[in-house]
This record gives sequence, structure tokens and C-alpha cells, in this order.
Amino acid sequence: MAYFTREKFLKSEISLLPAHSKKWAVRAAAVFPNDYRTGMSNLGFLEIFEIMHRFPQLFPQRFFGSEPLSLETGEPLTFFPIIAVSLSFELDFLNLLSLLRKSGISVKSTERKDRILIIGGAAAMINPYPLASIADAIFIGDNISNIEKIFKILAENPPGIVDKQDLLAELSKIEGVWIPSLLENPPQRAISVNKIQNAEATPFEEVTPPSSAIVSSFAAFPNMILVQIQQGCPFRCPFCATPVIYNPFQNFSVESIILSISRWGSRISRIGLVGSAIADYPDLNELLKYFRDIGQNVFTSSLRLDRLNSDIIENLKLSKQRTLTIAPEVGSQKFKKIIGKNFSIDKIISIIQKLPAKEIKLYYIIGLPDEELSDVSAIGDEIVKIAGEFPNRKIIASVNPFVPKRGTKWEYFNMMVHKELIKRFNIVKKMIDNRSNIYMQINYRRKTRLQWVLATGDRQVGEIFAESDTISDAVSKLDSRSHVFSIP
Ligand code: SF4
Repeated sequence: MAYFTREKFLKSEISLLPAHSKKWAVRAAAVFPNDYRTGMSNLGFLEIFEIMHRFPQLFPQRFFGSEPLSLETGEPLTFFPIIAVSLSFELDFLNLLSLLRKSGISVKSTERKDRILIIGGAAAMINPYPLASIADAIFIGDNISNIEKIFKILAENPPGIVDKQDLLAELSKIEGVWIPSLLENPPQRAISVNKIQNAEATPFEEVTPPSSAIVSSFAAFPNMILVQIQQGCPFRCPFCATPVIYNPFQNFSVESIILSISRWGSRISRIGLVGSAIADYPDLNELLKYFRDIGQNVFTSSLRLDRLNSDIIENLKLSKQRTLTIAPEVGSQKFKKIIGKNFSIDKIISIIQKLPAKEIKLYYIIGLPDEELSDVSAIGDEIVKIAGEFPNRKIIASVNPFVPKRGTKWEYFNMMVHKELIKRFNIVKKMIDNRSNIYMQINYRRKTRLQWVLATGDRQVGEIFAESDTISDAVSKLDSRSHVFSIP
């Protein structure tokens, strides 16, 4: 990372973490193979980096994207015998391969002798198989005490000093850790991922939820403390992996949430609540009121409209949230029923009317199983109608392709072929053309099909990537195996 970029990012940060800079300390890399902006708003990544700081033997440093120099000191990744990767999105896997190659580190685990590369995060939990030939260890879970155990072992037995095989054998004893070289299949998928620090004694409600220990003005949520208020999701949308990998759905208590962010005192006045079903948080009003009373502005991620009552709406009105995010996902009545998000366009409009947000972000998916063109037009109709009701607000319509994921109800459907998807994106695009307050984001390129391969593929997929010199080489080999790209 260029010196001036590093300086700029570091200067933008306020951190609660202790400074670790001892020359003799073991280098531990916290890698987020996507950009700084996204990584610094990813609570899972921030949590790993914070846990690393609990071990004085380690000198933790961050790496973003495929940049082979650390943010903290500009040291190259080759200096780091411990590499912990937070893999949130399947396609970040490509950046990880590129990072390793740029650093001159072998991508195959069997060819690395004095280094441990461990991968965790949502994408690793959804489908760890393609990572099996690259990672030495894969963590399938987000239990804090188990993550601590991993770093304790690594801090006390640094790779390069302690034999790698002995270390892997030790790590394999931790619940949720998969050592692909020792075991053909991962341990139980979707292990009960509670965050209990003392598994036997502490009920979930009393566990302190994760919150940001660093904020940055360059993060996707600038200068904002993120705090997790719940885990998992009580809904079961058939395309979504969240309720599968974070299971069971649980809410942290109001007291524990307040405790988690109390370490910031009054230094930061923006709080972002993280959860998949925030409107279902049973004490949401109490929480919103508490933050309002102490002068904090509260921001929320996507909200389910059918769960918003007048009190919540009143409290949300008082926050200075600029963007209201809603994920209707589908437009037709048929699909609203199928996926269980059965709220009408009138409901969407009536909620937007009550909130002053200047930007309305709407998420949709196309290419769903048995989707007809009329289902796609229904999405266009919905966007146009909402935009027409609110000519002075910016409507951001984010339209994404359906990507089947392992473990979900729709895992075994195929991703819609490229040509058909393009046709469908164009239908929506045409319908919203010339509406000056609509901004359409199409999150699809041919490369997106790799996401499907990685979210559902087997060990061999990873082997193909590991053995190919370039991504395009791997793509051709994958294509001759399963034709996921060449189908028109
Ligand atoms: S799409 Fe949203 S509401 Fe549906 S299961 Fe996933 S996280 Fe829950």
C-alpha cells in the first residue's frame, strides 16, 4: 500500500486498541481481501483484529484487498508467519489468491512450511470446500472464545518455531476448526455459534456483543461504532444463507449492548446497529430511546417493513439517518408469498412517507427459480411507482442476480444463464429509464458466476484455482468441467 494511502487511512482512525510495535513480536496478519472502506465496516474482521491484540506476543497488522504491504507499517506479508483471513464474500477469494501470489507465498497449503493460513468469515462458513487446498485451517463459526483459543495457540507456539503439523493437530481440537489435511470433511456445519465466553456458565443475553474498537472516516459507515445486536435471522428466505450459518437466532440484551459500546465514552456520537432483523429486536424502542437520550445518533441496516410499529418509526425519525434501506427482493405477489416478504407496495410507500431519509435504497434479486418475465417487470413497476411517489428523494435500486448457496433451500437450483440474466436486467433498466431520481446498480458481470461456483463447489474447485497460474486459466478449466461460463 502506497505510503500516502497508508498515512491517510491511519490518520483517519480513532482506535481503542493498544499499540503493538515490538520488533521481536510475532507478526500476525489480519487480512480482509476487499477494500479498506468495506473491511473497516465489517464487524467480524474488526473483531478478529481486536482479539489478536489480546496476545502481547503478537504484532497484529492489517492487509486489505490484494495489497501485499501492511497498513500499519508497510511490512510485506512474507514477514508474517500467521495469516488470518476474514472471507465475507466468495469473490474475495480471488483477491486472496492474488495477494498470496504478489507476496511470493505459495497458494497451496502443502507447499507452505513455516506459516499458518487460517480462513474464517461468512463465505468460509457457507462453503469451506473450495478453500481446502489453500487454507491450513478453516474456522466454521464465530464463537469468540474459540477464536481466542486459536490465537492463544498460535501466539504461544509460533509457526516457524513450532512444527506446523503439531500446531495443526493442536488447532484441530478446537470446536469449529477444520484442518482439511487431517479430515476429509468439515466439522458440523453451522455449529451453534453463540458468543458465550464461558460456554457453560453465561447465558446468551449476558454475553457482551462485538462492537468496533476502531472507527475511520473512510469506512463505509464513517466514524461510526458498529455494535451487533443480534445473531442470525428468524426468517428463512429460501435463497439466504444467514439463518443457516448463524444458528440459532438470538438477541443480545440491551444492557450488554450498552456495555459493549460504553468503552468509547462520549468520544463518538454515531452508533450503527448490526443485525439481520433489527425491527424484530424485542427492545428496539428502549435501545433507540437510550441512545437518543445520551445524544447518540443511531443508524440501522436494512429493515423489514412489516415489523415497524409507530414507536420505532418515531424513534427512527429522530435519528439523522440519511439512507433508508429496504430489501423487498422481489416485485410480484407470487414471489412475495414464496419468499415470505409479503408486504405490498402501498406498505412500502406508507413507511417511506413517515421517514425523512433523503435516500431510499431498495434491494432486488432477479433470476430466481421459475421466475417469469412478468415477475421481473413487477420489480421495474415497483421501483418506478416508489420513485414517482417521492420525486425529491434519491432512489437507489440495487438489482442483483440470484446466486445459489450451499445449505439454503434453493441450493440445488442453477444460476440463470448469462444471456437470460442480461435480458432481465435490461427489462428493469428500460422501465426505469429517464427517471431522474432513480439510480440503478446492477451487481452482475460474467465473473459473478464464479461466486456460484465458490458458494456451492467442492474441494476440486479450490485445487483448480491453486494449480492455475491465473484466474482466467482457472475459469477455462472450471468451464470445461461444468460449463458455468460458456453457456450463452
Ligand atoms: S434475506 Fe434477510 S430476512 Fe431473509 S433470511 Fe436473509 S437475512 Fe433474514
